[in-house]
Amino acid sequence: MRYRVTLVPGDGTGPELTEATVRCLEATGVEFEWERLDAGADYMERTGDTTPLPQGVIDSIKRNKLALKGPLTTPIGKGFRSVNVALRQELDLYACVRPCKLFKGLATRHDRVDLVIVRENTEDLYAGIEFERGSAGVKEISDVVDRRLGKKIHEGSAISLKPISEFGSRRIVRFAFEYAIRNHRRKVTAIHKANIMKFTDGLFLETARQVAREYEGKVEFEDLIVDNTCMQLVLKPEAYDVLVLPNLYGDIISDLGAGLIGGLGMAPGANVGDLGTVYEPTHGSAPRYQGLDKVNPLAELLSGVMMLRDIGEAQAAERLENAIGQVLERRTHLTYDLCRLLGLPPEKAVGTSDLADAIILEMERAGQPVAMR
Ligand code: NAD
Repeated sequence: MRYRVTLVPGDGTGPELTEATVRCLEATGVEFEWERLDAGADYMERTGDTTPLPQGVIDSIKRNKLALKGPLTTPIGKGFRSVNVALRQELDLYACVRPCKLFKGLATRHDRVDLVIVRENTEDLYAGIEFERGSAGVKEISDVVDRRLGKKIHEGSAISLKPISEFGSRRIVRFAFEYAIRNHRRKVTAIHKANIMKFTDGLFLETARQVAREYEGKVEFEDLIVDNTCMQLVLKPEAYDVLVLPNLYGDIISDLGAGLIGGLGMAPGANVGDLGTVYEPTHGSAPRYQGLDKVNPLAELLSGVMMLRDIGEAQAAERLENAIGQVLERRTHLTYDLCRLLGLPPEKAVGTSDLADAIILEMERAGQPVAMR
């Protein structure tokens, strides 16, 4: 079987990371047909296109239902709040899945971390509904707030809105439970601040509790306030399994999760919707390292491992993941971020492509490619 996948190499360090990832994925023996398309800030500059997100990219993802994407730079002051957010909205990629699994070779503060963060991707403060200081929108909203709630908003304020719907909450919580069942996970924890935001987070929590009842006896459920969650995750991450969160908390806790497993260079992700799935690292384009063959390819490669699992190539995913684990344990081929994490001298660090080579060699050492067995 040959899998047709949309490939968006991205900006900054994206093309180097994507090249390394593609080589490792192909070395598993699984066959891919990559539909390579450019998007982002570099694409705009090179082609003179006025949008960083050409329609061809959206159409290709809708056709193939699978995409592997490097990070994209958001051009500053060119109209787009974020290309990545726009892509998620265009394709209604409503669930962001970010597994945070600690490899043994990187165990420093904790022995075991194996969390999955499920972040709602379309609503909340992150939806980008904002009114600028001094705008008519701020004036109108301030008037309504005064009239309806008797509360004063300071003169000269800017305002962001936080829409949370029953529909959006139900959809993401159900996704989290279904994910838990498919992946043999034992517990879902809903994260919120419903003690303060009684209507928005309150609705999220109430809906989560309703959905949880449908899964009683199959998957455990609990809820936790977001500030407490930060502390609990730092102290005892092993107590958690699948976390489901509204958009902004999901964004923040994702980085906390990345910190628990070795940093942004180790944090994969997938944005999932009914029209398709876009696999991409959690980190951005790290533009200051562009062209240096320096940054860690594992966040994007582990996103590729997620893709292999989702398309049913579990054996290939396992071989690749085992090879990554072996290379990390050997500590001879680590990028600068991992050397820093483990207290190894910077001169020991290898480049993006060296780490990919070591993983491919490790897979070869471990046996024939799956497709050739
Ligand atoms: P960033 O994630 O690109 O980089 C922050 C720092 O994290 C880097 O300086 C580096 O020290 C470290 N880092 C990131 N990736 C790494 C890797 N693979 N290996 C080792 N270290 C790594 O964040 P930023 O500087 O805030 O953003 C740069 C650009 O990326 C911005 O334009 C932003 O909008 C964009 N961005 C894109 C995405 C995406 O495509 N999904 C996500 C976040 C940010």
